[in-house]
Amino acid sequence: MPARPGDPVDLVLAPRDGLALARRDLTADCSRCVGLCCVLPAFAASADFAFDKPADTPCRHLQTDARCGVHDQLRDRGMPGCVVFDCFGAGQRVTQVTFGGAARTTDPASTAAVSAVFPVMRQLTELLWHLTEAEALLPAGPLRGEATAARDHTERLTHCTPAELSALDAAQLRREVGDLLGRVSEVVRSVVPDRARDRRSADLMGASLRGADLHGASLRGAQLIGADLRGADLRRADLLGADLRAADLGGADLTGALFLTGPQLTAARGDGATRLPASLARPAHWPTGTPAPTGRARPARRPRRR
Ligand code: SF4
Repeated sequence: MPARPGDPVDLVLAPRDGLALARRDLTADCSRCVGLCCVLPAFAASADFAFDKPADTPCRHLQTDARCGVHDQLRDRGMPGCVVFDCFGAGQRVTQVTFGGAARTTDPASTAAVSAVFPVMRQLTELLWHLTEAEALLPAGPLRGEATAARDHTERLTHCTPAELSALDAAQLRREVGDLLGRVSEVVRSVVPDRARDRRSADLMGASLRGADLHGASLRGAQLIGADLRGADLRRADLLGADLRAADLGGADLTGALFLTGPQLTAARGDGATRLPASLARPAHWPTGTPAPTGRARPARRPRRR
């Protein structure tokens, strides 16, 4: 990832290249799960799902080997909601760790037992995803020590018993980790010269942000559904919890964007010119090429403060 003018190269960028490796246990491994995400959640017929499914009931497409029978055709089958779901490795942890390889969804009692645990584990693994990034972003110091301690604590929680996990106040933990990530974000973005103004939790649904300078801005929790972000400068932008469904990221630069996840990218649209953080893979359904120019001039970025 070459440095560009305005990049805060004095922060520890190099470990972010190894972030994907550090997150290897936070990637779904369906071969070690019993199809929990295809049994436990309910979904309703909508643009995301082709039919209704009650909670704790196997999806009609789930095979006896706990694999999806339409995995390669999910969008064509009207199931894009499945494509954007990621358990961050919670499924295999519940199956293999919490229940020691004995997790089952074959009878109501067994299903109820895993159903009480899976949503909690899903929250823990997502927090681990972000805390691992926070550690990679920071130089050695007290704040990095806090991030490490929070990650270690959260990791230990994933080894709790089913009863302990069911009783865990995951919402409180999310608040505490969210506060820590906010402080990490401030530190990391503070070195961006003349950073764009924050739009935290802003309602930007369908907004025209083509070519916008959002370098170093906080877009945490922002509603960006269907927003036009083509060519936008999102370097070092904090995208924690931002809703990017159907947002157009064609040609946008998300190099070094903070707290971005695979599901957020998968829910958005991009193209071959979209630049991503080094640790995240390009969604398979994005086109690899770039659209032909429309003739509209791309707005100039603000001049950098010297
Ligand atoms: S369509 Fe496939 S991925 Fe989606 S819930 Fe059903 S079995 Fe799971």
